[in-house]
Amino acid sequence: MSLAAAGVPVRVLEKKTDPGAKLHTTGLLVRDVVDGVDWLSETPPDIVRRIDGVRLYAPDMHSVELVAPGYYFLATDTPQLMRWMTDRCRRLGGEVQLGATYTRARRDDDGFEIDGFGRTSFLVGADGPRSRVARDLGLGENRRFLFGIEHEYAGAQIAEPHLLHCFIDHRLAPGYIGWAVRGVGQVQVGLARRADAPGVAKEAMAAFLTKIAPVIDLRDVHPSHIRAGLIPCGGVVSPVAAERVLLVGDSAGMVSPVTAGGIHTALKHGQAAGRAIADFAAGKRADPSRWFTQTYPKFRAKRALRWAFDHFQNDLTFNLLLGSPPMRAAARLIFFHRARG
Ligand SMILES: Cc1cc2nc3c(=O)[nH]c(=O)nc-3n(C[C@H](O)[C@H](O)[C@H](O)COP(=O)(O)OP(=O)(O)OC[C@H]3O[C@@H](n4cnc5c(N)ncnc54)[C@H](O)[C@@H]3O)c2cc1C
Repeated sequence: MSLAAAGVPVRVLEKKTDPGAKLHTTGLLVRDVVDGVDWLSETPPDIVRRIDGVRLYAPDMHSVELVAPGYYFLATDTPQLMRWMTDRCRRLGGEVQLGATYTRARRDDDGFEIDGFGRTSFLVGADGPRSRVARDLGLGENRRFLFGIEHEYAGAQIAEPHLLHCFIDHRLAPGYIGWAVRGVGQVQVGLARRADAPGVAKEAMAAFLTKIAPVIDLRDVHPSHIRAGLIPCGGVVSPVAAERVLLVGDSAGMVSPVTAGGIHTALKHGQAAGRAIADFAAGKRADPSRWFTQTYPKFRAKRALRWAFDHFQNDLTFNLLLGSPPMRAAARLIFFHRARG
């Protein structure tokens, strides 16, 4: 969008025919993304819903409420948000080609010839956790993943709809958490866990719905959608760029290894990459592949935290310490961080 806004001819290839179809995300936006990505302030108000804080449940289901002054999340009608973003990009002059799958690019002296789509002087791979662009052009690929699964219940209600409900449970969600949130017109319940054998997450999800039934009971409601997907959790891939090509978003591995949130970084660095490429196109700056990716998050502290969580996650500790001041402080830091590396 920032390329289109700068008047640079840009073409987006999207393999889906509907940008709002087959999404694999809860679609929660952290406050930082609202602050950092200017066009989000124009989002139609009926496709977002404010969530003021978090209720965090220990494995034994006792809980604490966490809020931070001025901080909030936005739940989104993500399919509509994706369609709105597509329209906005088009209105700015960008060409969004739907049903268009990138398969291969051939490098030449000043850019690439993209199979089936013509020439480009700069290529951005924003094609998700298993990036075809990265594989095709010999860039780094994600190797470590969480697996997320989510049920959507249209029209359902939950108690405390102004909170994001998060559940710690080493057995059902090893390496991450489960969650429930009242989104825009539906309730979304999901969990993420270290990627393991297919089918295990599905069983864990059934057990999770039973476990949370005393506070959120959706066992007799049929999910209107079920979505699932991989979440990169190994940090930014290497190399993340080569001459006239760079990766952003999940393809670059820029997902917080702790919160598993990747929308904020994808939008923030996608926007900045567009501006850097526009400057390159105007002859004002060098090829962004040489300098721009140094601005990417390093996630050093978060990768250390992930390592600790992977090796020492222990339900008894959370049962004992959840309400304690150090645990509350740590949880606040994780949920209400200013989302840096
Ligand atoms: C269950 C689950 C819940 C999540 N919840 C949250 C959350 O609430 N908040 C948050 O911040 N993060 C969340 N995440 C992570 C977040 O969804 C991702 O980090 C984010 O979607 C990354 O955006 P992206 O544009 O880089 O990649 P994607 O969203 O994967 O988009 C890539 C796009 O590229 C297209 N594509 C792929 N290959 C090709 C090709 N060869 N040619 C053309 N097009 C192609 C795809 O169709 C897709 O539209 C969640 C992840 C999961 C799995």
